[in-house]
Amino acid sequence: MQEKSFSSDIYRHLVEVSPVGLVLVRAGKVAFINRTGAALLGMAPDSVVGREFIDFVQPHDQELFLGEKPETGWEEVGFLLADGRAIILGVRVSEIEYEDEPATLVVLHGLGEERPFALESAIRYKTLVEKLADIVFVIDLKGRFIFLNQGFTRATGYPSSEWIGRKFTEIVAPEYVELVCERFRNGPPPGDGVSQYEIEIIGQEGKRIPVEIRVTSLPDAEGNEIGRIGIARDVSERRKFEEELKRKNEELERILNTMGEGVVVLDHRHRMVSLNRKARELFGYDPEEMIGKDYTFWCHPDSLDTLRAKLADRERGKNETYTARFRRKGGGSFHAHVTAVPIFDETGRFQGSIGCLQDITQELELFRRVEELNEFNRRLIELADVWIDVVDSEGKILLWNREAERISGYSREEVEGHAKIWEWLYPDPEYRREVWEAQKRMRLDDAATRRAERTICTKSGERRIISWHGRPLHLSDGRAGWLIVGHDVTEERRREIRLREYAAEIERLSQERNRLFSMAAHELRTPLTVIRGFIDLIQHAGGLSERQLGWLEKAREETDHLGKLVTQLLEVARLDGEGKRLFPRRIRLVPVIERILHELKPILTERGQRIDYEPQEADVEVYADPQAVEGILRNLLANAISYTPPPGGVSLSVTADEKTVRVDVSDEGVGISPDDEVRIFDEFYRTETGKRLKRDGSGIGLSIVKRLVERSGGRVWVDSPGEGKGSTFSFTLPRFRESGTDADTDR
Ligand code: ADP
Repeated sequence: MQEKSFSSDIYRHLVEVSPVGLVLVRAGKVAFINRTGAALLGMAPDSVVGREFIDFVQPHDQELFLGEKPETGWEEVGFLLADGRAIILGVRVSEIEYEDEPATLVVLHGLGEERPFALESAIRYKTLVEKLADIVFVIDLKGRFIFLNQGFTRATGYPSSEWIGRKFTEIVAPEYVELVCERFRNGPPPGDGVSQYEIEIIGQEGKRIPVEIRVTSLPDAEGNEIGRIGIARDVSERRKFEEELKRKNEELERILNTMGEGVVVLDHRHRMVSLNRKARELFGYDPEEMIGKDYTFWCHPDSLDTLRAKLADRERGKNETYTARFRRKGGGSFHAHVTAVPIFDETGRFQGSIGCLQDITQELELFRRVEELNEFNRRLIELADVWIDVVDSEGKILLWNREAERISGYSREEVEGHAKIWEWLYPDPEYRREVWEAQKRMRLDDAATRRAERTICTKSGERRIISWHGRPLHLSDGRAGWLIVGHDVTEERRREIRLREYAAEIERLSQERNRLFSMAAHELRTPLTVIRGFIDLIQHAGGLSERQLGWLEKAREETDHLGKLVTQLLEVARLDGEGKRLFPRRIRLVPVIERILHELKPILTERGQRIDYEPQEADVEVYADPQAVEGILRNLLANAISYTPPPGGVSLSVTADEKTVRVDVSDEGVGISPDDEVRIFDEFYRTETGKRLKRDGSGIGLSIVKRLVERSGGRVWVDSPGEGKGSTFSFTLPRFRESGTDADTDR
């Protein structure tokens, strides 16, 4: 076909070397392309021929080649190159007749290196400026808009055409007008400088739009400023975002501050950047004192090495948890459990770290105390002066303290870890089994402490009595065992045995004495009666001189005294021995008192004394043996009279409460010293003053009173302000009540 059309070699050559590209298109397909044309399209001619021409044209320019194609002038048309790039070429299209059919001749003309670029960027800029979300504006040197992009309409709602020619300040919110004018007067900084500031502009319906403005100079080709070009960016979103961020930060700050843990932020050189309230509390420093300081400032010397190593790990991206000691302001320190996380930027550079400090000073202190306590317990067990051992369920010894060693004679090394000890301590198999069974039974009753006394055999063969306290124990490995505490009670038991022997001996001796008492009294009584009888006879037989009668009278007095003594001794013996029994019953106390007072009247008259007695509690009843009550009253009243030289008086009173009746016998006599008060109820005890005042006293009366009162279920005691100041003897008796009496009489 080529040969046919361009038959002449010269033409063909011309076509081939033509500096313009020539393309013949028939029915849309490339029928021919010369070398220049192919080169402009970046392809070999053969690979172009036969293909749809329109495929080489950029879509927005394809229109030119569709439908009716009138003769065109030069057009700039975008082509797609084989390597994917785009190129702008000058194109001229002519419709021609070729071999009797319509065809299209396309002449392609390169535009030089810079043309396609300039054009392309112009297109791009145009698109960019219009599509930009920001407002792009150009103002002349009088401050009037000469260009506004679509961004202006989008932001303000005004069509841009309305505003071309109007002053820039008209759209600015009033409070910013002054600022804008000043900036406008000063102009942007020289060179490519940008003047930047934030203002608010007012859109349709008064809508305020916060914008950030950047303005630069717009020069002409010679470099003279012909206006200003500016970009206004709607920052309401950013403001909202900033406010949100601020709020979030505050919230975060609040959370950090209420956290129970200290939080610190360190920069890439481990310098303090910020710290929350708890961290400030822990360190005790004001933030200003700490911020900017690195770890050597706040780390305690003890933990410097640890911290240095951990911080190095952190730079390598390790999350760390560890315990370290930190300095506190004023010389103190605290221990903290630290959890730290490193922070990296998007390029993977170490930015710093966040650390969380949990104060564990108290826990450590507690731990130390527990340790101390354990040590203390260990020593206590070791040094306690009781035998302590722990034994497992198979009878193996797990603990054996010093006292156990001392008493048993077996050292810890000998017994620990084996069960042989039972055979050693209890050599008798029968006894051993009994002990072991008892131990096993303890397990059934977990909480109980068992007590038992057993005789062990020590290493030296000595028998010792040990009082054991045993308690089941859960050993740390889950097994059951026993804690056993023992006291060596051998000496105690021996002493008890000796004491029991003494007591039995005393009892035997006292019975012997009683037997002697009553025997002597009985033996003395008959001869005394006989002697008394003969003295009477001789006194009344007559023929005796006055002097002889005097001697006889003396003999009679002494015999009477002796008789009284014998009677008292008999009474004591009978009260102490089995012989005398009391017969308590319900009696009215007042008649008994009156009877004794009546009995004593002659002596009182003789001595010119009287007894004060107002019968109070006239109907009071006691539960007692009437003879015993008479004996008590007679003795105490007779003493009161005897030891009260006339004209000193005696008084008697009766008081009662729900359970007891109390009688007080007071006198204004010689009194009793504190030393004597203690012994006055002992048998045969008499005070010195007492002996002088009453020659024929025996010192037995009060001991009988004591026996009678106590065996009636009451108490007797004496009170005296001192010698020469009188005394009060008091006793109680169980009161009789219809509901019965608490008295445990005649014990
Ligand atoms: P006696 O009166 O026969 O000596 P008691 O046993 O009755 O024996 O008394 C013992 C001693 O207690 C008396 O010797 C006397 O020293 C002292 N005593 C007893 N009653 C009184 C009293 N009311 N005032 C002072 N001393 C008394």
